Amino acid sequence: MEELHKALKDRDLTVSTVHGKGRSLVTARDFYPGDVIINQEPYVCVSTHKRCDGCFRTTNLSKCSRCHVVWYCGTSCQKSEWRLHRLECEALSRLDDRKRKSVTPSIRLMLKLYLRRKLQDEKIIPSTAMDNYKLVEALVAHMSDITEEQLVLYAQMANLVHLILQWPEINIKEIAEIFSKFACNAHTICDSELRPLGTGLYPVVSIINHSCLPNSVLVFEGRIASVRALQQLPKGTEVLISYIETAGSTVTRQKALKEQYLFTCVCPLCSKVF
Ligand SMILES: [Zn+2]
Ligand SMILES: [Zn+2]
Ligand SMILES: [Zn+2]
Repeated sequence: MEELHKALKDRDLTVSTVHGKGRSLVTARDFYPGDVIINQEPYVCVSTHKRCDGCFRTTNLSKCSRCHVVWYCGTSCQKSEWRLHRLECEALSRLDDRKRKSVTPSIRLMLKLYLRRKLQDEKIIPSTAMDNYKLVEALVAHMSDITEEQLVLYAQMANLVHLILQWPEINIKEIAEIFSKFACNAHTICDSELRPLGTGLYPVVSIINHSCLPNSVLVFEGRIASVRALQQLPKGTEVLISYIETAGSTVTRQKALKEQYLFTCVCPLCSKVF
């Protein structure tokens, strides 16, 4: 994590631990409205619906001729994704039609995570301070807070991942735990009109905590997550974004946060006594 601290320091940011909240991202200089605080490529991402797996466009799509699961808008996107998709494609191609249809975006996100970790371990894909598996390991999983029903579902999904990858050393329990991490950390990638395009895991952006009165906003430029200041953030301010639609009532917001992110919000708006 020392590497990460250095990389963040270069961006005038620090990570500190806030009691009861875990890690938080804090400014180390003044930021002004509109300033980019941080941007990050996803560790892994998948498109939802029928979109190019590289750029999320919907035009000129053709299916990967081998696995018939993944779509690309052209050779340039197919090429840029190939190092990872080569392994995924091999695994998907082994499946029968029925199993292949059960490969949801969440399953693909997990497959890509394991394959990317493997390729980074083997140094085929380079790692950097902001792009390595240790950052994924550091994310919260909230395993003790999830329901029995959810656990069963994660275990089933983990079994499918195991069946697709066929790695003898793979740990089902670990996969289930990562599914839980996805649920509370993965971001929906949206276009500029807030239409959902896909899902991505951004382990550094995930350090940023929630507030229903955020001082910053998360937007996407293609698949790059970009956090911008909404107001002046003096040095030493915790960067806060909203994980949910902030227009709802306190009850609605709290319910959404509890269900999806498994925490009770105590931001100024939620603690306000009417
Ligand atoms: Zn594309
Ligand atoms: Zn393929
Ligand atoms: Zn709140």
